[in-house]
Amino acid sequence: MMPRDLSAHEAYVPGRGAEEVARELGMDAAELTKLSSNENPRGPSPAAVAAVEDAAPAVNVYPKTSHTDLTDRLAATWDVTPEQVWVSPGADGALDYLSRAFLEPNDRVLTPTPGFAYYAMSARYHHGDVAEYTVSKADDFAQTAAAVLDAYDGERIVYVTTPHNPTGSVLPREELVELLDSVADHTLVVADEAYGEYAEEPSSIDLLSEFDNLAVTRTFSKAYGLAGLRIGYAVVPEAWADAYARVNTPFAANELACRAALAALDDDEHVEKTVETAAWAREYYREELDAPTWPSGGNFVLADVGDGTAVAEAAKRRGVIVRDTTSFGLPDCVRVSCGTREETRRAVDVLNDVIEDVTAGETRA
Ligand SMILES: *Cc1c(COP(=O)(O)O)cnc(C)c1O
Repeated sequence: MMPRDLSAHEAYVPGRGAEEVARELGMDAAELTKLSSNENPRGPSPAAVAAVEDAAPAVNVYPKTSHTDLTDRLAATWDVTPEQVWVSPGADGALDYLSRAFLEPNDRVLTPTPGFAYYAMSARYHHGDVAEYTVSKADDFAQTAAAVLDAYDGERIVYVTTPHNPTGSVLPREELVELLDSVADHTLVVADEAYGEYAEEPSSIDLLSEFDNLAVTRTFSKAYGLAGLRIGYAVVPEAWADAYARVNTPFAANELACRAALAALDDDEHVEKTVETAAWAREYYREELDAPTWPSGGNFVLADVGDGTAVAEAAKRRGVIVRDTTSFGLPDCVRVSCGTREETRRAVDVLNDVIEDVTAGETRA
């Protein structure tokens, strides 16, 4: 016996882990600078670590009040009702809940290319189909309502990412408003704000008071440094009432994750320092890398290095792991996460050497 036809499903290609690469190269993981998954180089908030330690002895019990407390806390933060907050295992979990709540078999979603792979994956898991709109390199990856609407054909869900992964570009608020105004009544626009904390622009969550065809996703994986705990959420229109209760996997957001998220929300200083570190690193990459880069609202920069695979491979052998963006459809580029100052300087030194070598090799060939 076999599973259903999975040929349209593509496996997620994650940034390589430091342990994994260390094993392959016979190096110590501590010697590696991992800048391939947009993780927080400052680690989690110490308050979140303490909360996990405190909660550990009680993990024999299903999470309940922690989930309620986190939901209430997020509702207060964003000035929405608790029913509007869908706490989930990572923002990826929230994307799944939206797919579950919206997609009938063969409903289509519209996703950005290049873009975050999980939108399409989630749609396919839920028997949906996928179409794409282009975030165009020729336009320096500018995001506009017109570019989305050009490809739009009445899809059930339209995904926008702001700041956009892997390019860093931001969808201006007036463009999002235009998109929300322009799509058909049955179309949900999902604004994925996984990197929202790093951007200058405010969240679009407040637009939920005007629009009932918008959902906003956020995560604790990036600025809050809790990627390993898998905790995120969506903020949705008030009218959806009890939909969450019908699509939520019971207890999927776990006790340690909910407790850590609550503690992290109280540690403003950690987030502020995180955002400061990223802003410094973005500038450093833009000024010091010997490759064109694009302005980024996230904790990473996309660099046009000519041959992304060759550069990422060579940098890895020198202990710096960056993301080859071939799987995003950008084979000429690498995406480099913002590290600490030391990591960021090391990454620039190694990348500049490697870019020179790879370019020289290609000229010879
Ligand atoms: C990292 C990321 C997410 C969510 O990550 P989780 O770890 O599942 O919370 C969502 N969207 C984009 C664009 C991301 O880069």
